[in-house]
Amino acid sequence: MNPQTLESYASGRWTRGEGVESSLVDPVAGEMIATASARGVDLKRALGFARKHGQGALRALSYADRAKLLGAVADTLAANRAKYESIAIANSGNTKADAAIDIDGGIGTLKYYARLGASLGEARMLLDEKPVRLAKAENYQAIHLMVPRRGVAIHINAFNFPSWGLWEKAAVALLAGMPVFAKPASSTALLAHEMVRDVIAAQVLPDGALSLLVGSAGDLLDHLTSDDVIAFTGSADTAARVRGHRHVVARNVPVNIEADSINAALLAPDAAGGGAAFDAFVREVVREMTVKAGQKCTAIRRIIVPEGKAGDVAEALFAKLKNTKVGDPRNEDTRMGPLVTRAQQAAAFDGIRKLAREADFVIGGAEPPALDGIDAGKAAFVAPTLLRVKDVKHADAVHEVEVFGPAATIVPYRDEKDACALVARGGGSLVASIYGEDQGFLARMVEGIGPSHGRLLLVEPAIASAHSGHGIVMPQCNHGGPGRAGAGEELGGLYGLRFYHQRLAVQGSTDLLASLQAQAAALH
Ligand code: NAP
Repeated sequence: MNPQTLESYASGRWTRGEGVESSLVDPVAGEMIATASARGVDLKRALGFARKHGQGALRALSYADRAKLLGAVADTLAANRAKYESIAIANSGNTKADAAIDIDGGIGTLKYYARLGASLGEARMLLDEKPVRLAKAENYQAIHLMVPRRGVAIHINAFNFPSWGLWEKAAVALLAGMPVFAKPASSTALLAHEMVRDVIAAQVLPDGALSLLVGSAGDLLDHLTSDDVIAFTGSADTAARVRGHRHVVARNVPVNIEADSINAALLAPDAAGGGAAFDAFVREVVREMTVKAGQKCTAIRRIIVPEGKAGDVAEALFAKLKNTKVGDPRNEDTRMGPLVTRAQQAAAFDGIRKLAREADFVIGGAEPPALDGIDAGKAAFVAPTLLRVKDVKHADAVHEVEVFGPAATIVPYRDEKDACALVARGGGSLVASIYGEDQGFLARMVEGIGPSHGRLLLVEPAIASAHSGHGIVMPQCNHGGPGRAGAGEELGGLYGLRFYHQRLAVQGSTDLLASLQAQAAALH
């Protein structure tokens, strides 16, 4: 089959870039399935089109009207779901369960924001804070309102969530009234491309509300204005380039960064082997290591356990990991597929080798696994790889190197203080989960490690099988983390709308402010 040539949707039409910038490959067979290029696409014009047509149309609508648009997008995607699953398997090496997290996660987030938007009714601005008196005169007050920004929302996404990354950002921006200019990562752009094609064909969004750039970013950032915003997800290196881009800096374009993260799972001292908290911990670590072959920004990388329990934990994890069936995701019994590309495989092996300088292998390694029917010279597999730090005091790599694959390392701790200090050495993470029976310990950890996280999952036996998972991002909850994780914030229900609005204090007479207040929907 000839590789498909992907196109960008810019200035209201599908446009083919010149030549080939990237090849999209099936990471099991190594075959090229599509090519991408954005070379020659007029990005300045495309941004102007989105601002004029998309902004104009969305701005005229209420939150409830825009919520209906999100619902229509979600329905369009749901109707084509089977096709998307096949693409996720072919281009990303996803198992069906992996594909569901990406595809259904995207559709679910759209539906969630559609419901939330409906609750905001016919308003076109948000009330952030009630009136406050500013002077002796009672009829002179101030309120804080939020109005949609005037520009375009530039969404630059990572390769590991071509669907969820696209729609979790688009849902919030469109509800806020900003047109979306989405750039998926080139290596897995096929899914985003097909989804946007279906949404455009269904004519459920106003012209200019959704644009897609398939290929490299080119001079995109050179054409931004101070009305635009950038929401970026990807590596810390690229994040630094985007945030530090001279035009972005000069125009003070707001940038939200979701970067990499060396997330921890922590076993409490009281969680005994065979107990519900211990079992939940082991289950979750294995799930996080193997789902999407560990290619989740939220995946557990550091397994922080009491010194005396490191052996039991290693044994329990080994027993489960050795039975994880790795192979072609098209086979029903496969539990873990490959990484998305050979380049990602090489980067993962490189990271594992760095970790192994300070740790012993419990299982796995830094070589391609031998798998039935798979050509190791073409495929991008990495075996589930568990390491155990040799000397905690002198181990640095485990806190610094993000292996974006199915690898994690056991780090033993002495006491509560030591555990908090070790977790903090990650330099800021998206999420940590803590497993134990003593509520006092779990509660103390919120203060103990909270400052270096955007989200904590506290697992005690009562919710051991009810929780939504360490690595699953729920749209109701904040997603983002300080420091290394990018210092960004996304989602979190209505809170996520803030990034796409201008917050302003309005000072005036009590009567006038009361009428403005009546026109706005309450953010809280
Ligand atoms: P990446 O190489 O940094 O690429 C991310 C995006 O930036 C891609 O769309 C890429 O486009 C684009 N890009 C590259 N150079 C650019 C430039 N100069 N200007 C504008 N855009 C540019 O990251 P990745 O390899 O796709 O993703 C893996 C990383 O993302 C991991 O470190 C992971 O932890 C992180 N991640 C974080 C989250 C989170 O929510 N915090 C979620 C998922 C992944 P091309 O593909 O065309 O180069």
